[in-house]
Amino acid sequence: MEILRYGSIGPMVAFAQLGLKRAGFLNAEPDGIFGNQTRTAVQRFQHSSGLRQDGIIGPRTWTELTPWLTGYREVNVQRGDSYFRLAEKFGTTVMALETANPQADPLNLRIGQKLIVPLPFSVVPENVPFTSTVLLYCIRGLRARYPYLYADSIGDSVLGTPLYLLRLGAGESQVLFNGAHHANEWITSPLLMKYVETYAQAYMEDRPIGGILASELYRRANLFVVPMVNPDGVDLVTGAYAPGSKPYFDALSLNGSAEGFPKNWKANIRGVDLNLQYPAGWEKARQIKFAQGYTKPGPRDYVGPEPLSEPESKAVYDFTRKNSFALTLSYHTQGEVIYWKYDDFEPAGSRRIGLEFSRLSGYALELTPEESANAGYKDWFIQAYDRPGYTIEAGSGINPLPLSQLSNIYADNESLLSYAQIAEAEPE
Ligand SMILES: [Zn+2]
Repeated sequence: MEILRYGSIGPMVAFAQLGLKRAGFLNAEPDGIFGNQTRTAVQRFQHSSGLRQDGIIGPRTWTELTPWLTGYREVNVQRGDSYFRLAEKFGTTVMALETANPQADPLNLRIGQKLIVPLPFSVVPENVPFTSTVLLYCIRGLRARYPYLYADSIGDSVLGTPLYLLRLGAGESQVLFNGAHHANEWITSPLLMKYVETYAQAYMEDRPIGGILASELYRRANLFVVPMVNPDGVDLVTGAYAPGSKPYFDALSLNGSAEGFPKNWKANIRGVDLNLQYPAGWEKARQIKFAQGYTKPGPRDYVGPEPLSEPESKAVYDFTRKNSFALTLSYHTQGEVIYWKYDDFEPAGSRRIGLEFSRLSGYALELTPEESANAGYKDWFIQAYDRPGYTIEAGSGINPLPLSQLSNIYADNESLLSYAQIAEAEPE
């Protein structure tokens, strides 16, 4: 983790501020600016943790902050500890302790035994920019709290960042949700992560999510989520690469000018649009985009030298081929629209399910506009498998959508995300 001090700015400052706020040392919302208020909060936090109060977030302060970022703490059992007492002490519940520690016997705790103690707040933040690092912390935290959630990666990005995968459910029907093919549509990553967290928690508490009992989803479906297909691009847009760093500088050169940079960046870090990479009408997409002037690497709409030339789209393609997905959802922003068709393909059930998605979300079910009707993930999925695949354009406004929209977007999509997992299993 980078060292932060007075004057630092960026998403890691916001992330540290989130930890300080959760720990009770900062009242203001994270703003990514390390000023006086943040320095004072760091010093107070350091004092409470027995660290030198230098007001700088270095390795040791990051370590102390980590439980406030992942949402759990490792604790050694002491004499007299019980789940009840630990729950009281850390503000959590006996159920959360039982869930996070499936190997432990609550009636036979041993002194010195290590336990995972979930902390009393949601892991996935709604008030800080998502970067690949923030995503990694969320995954670590959710894995610790909910051991039935599996995490893996399906490959690496151009810059070597893992393309994380989450899996939840024990059912027959495999379903894939993916987000953030497009860098400036990164709000789809916290959207999917918030769904994963809500689902995992609902499963623990035996409650419904989006109108369906979580245990039923778990029993019937096997959900795979790739929340951030384009981590390098997201890191560029959310400011994880500082101006002057090599990734920033290289992308700026491809951008041609500083106008709208990096917030309008849509492509992967070397200027290829990852949702124009799939082998379904790629030549046609190339013709259309070249005619529009997108003939070389840049912030958007360049199809690449050939289909699947980029490690991110290739990884999603390979991963899809290794599995047998009954249905896929690709999250983009914006427009509050659901695209469901490719070319003349109309997979069985796809219109009916699309109409139900539309009813559940309030989004319109539409045909993809001609100029972007090829080489997308859903296009290839529909063509290759003749099964329902959808692009969902969440939210409205101008990309990148502000985080303030996240809770509304989530509310619109929760039922859809639950229904999608069991939709295909229903008879026509
Ligand atoms: Zn998009």
